[in-house]
Amino acid sequence: MNYSRLHLKIFNTLSHSSHNRRFSKQCSLAAAYVINGKQIAKEVQVELKAEIDQWKEEGNIVPHLTAVLVGNDPGSKLYVKNKMKAAKSVGITSAVIEKPHQTSQAELLDVVAMLNAEPSINAVLVQLPLPKHMNERTVCDAVHPDKDVDGFHMSNIGKLCLDVPNLIPATAFAVWELLKRSGIDTFGKNAVVCGRSKNIGMPVAALLHSDGDNGFKMGMDATVTTCHRYTPAKNLPEFTKNADIIIVAVGSPNLITADMVKEGATVIDVGINRIWDAKQERYRLVGDVDFEGVSKKASFITPVPGGVGPMTVAMLMKNTLQAAKIQTKKKREKTAIH
Ligand code: NAD
Repeated sequence: MNYSRLHLKIFNTLSHSSHNRRFSKQCSLAAAYVINGKQIAKEVQVELKAEIDQWKEEGNIVPHLTAVLVGNDPGSKLYVKNKMKAAKSVGITSAVIEKPHQTSQAELLDVVAMLNAEPSINAVLVQLPLPKHMNERTVCDAVHPDKDVDGFHMSNIGKLCLDVPNLIPATAFAVWELLKRSGIDTFGKNAVVCGRSKNIGMPVAALLHSDGDNGFKMGMDATVTTCHRYTPAKNLPEFTKNADIIIVAVGSPNLITADMVKEGATVIDVGINRIWDAKQERYRLVGDVDFEGVSKKASFITPVPGGVGPMTVAMLMKNTLQAAKIQTKKKREKTAIH
């Protein structure tokens, strides 16, 4: 067992206990604790498989996820393949509908309407990005909100903003789960989110400042600042240096460097960038954070790859079971009324 895994084991044992604060302090004196998203995603999937097995044993529908893939983008193909693989590993059945790049928006909306109407399909995702001739907002809003496992439908985003979520955008959910499982306290803390996209930055910020009172168990109660492309570059460090927690979802390698981070902060890197590595003469993936520099200063940090990415897939599976549960509940309520 290497140091990082041993560290994780000890940390998990201490998680959610009074030892947490002391442990965080110890971490800040040395190199950051690397949050192993791949390992945590595996744990989530093992737990989820047990929950799905139980769900099936109780005579419920086998959760089913259908993904729609438009065009030939290799990155999108790989993402969909990984999602199908994860589905199989937890006992969710799945299918992919592939459409050519030139598919019209009307045709795509017909496919989505067909999937919405099929009761054996609980979860529908349309892989983004879509070809330029389509309007992603229109397509996301066409997916039935109870089947919308990406959580991108405007009613799901709206409910999240009101602290009554239905299905939470998978990446924001992944950030939440990584923070929780790593025992990172968010209550009353300063958080900075870099990026305000409707699919990632904004839902992450919404979850971070969500109100834990009034029965919302996922409430994080942080004080949140959102930075975006029009936050002057010279001012960005003023915000990040004041943050206990920094979440970066921009798509800009090395945007966050050690001098921009407070000693002992938690840094969650959502960014995925493909860069040319001249030394290794191949492309490799990096995040938005200068991992080497920042990990010397932060208490906790996620790597890229192996951080938020695998967790996003795991949370998509969690959402698929949740979608099946929501639909089953509504069906039962309808039957009881009639
Ligand atoms: P996007 O292009 O839609 O949004 C980027 C955001 O960054 C915008 O809100 C923009 O205002 C902001 N921004 C740009 N320059 C900035 C700067 N200098 N300082 C602060 N903010 C700045 O991208 P997205 O879809 O939100 O994705 C963001 C990143 O997350 C990308 O690298 C993407 O590949 C990655 N991503 C990761 C996962 C995952 O599971 N880890 C999932 C989806 C996307």
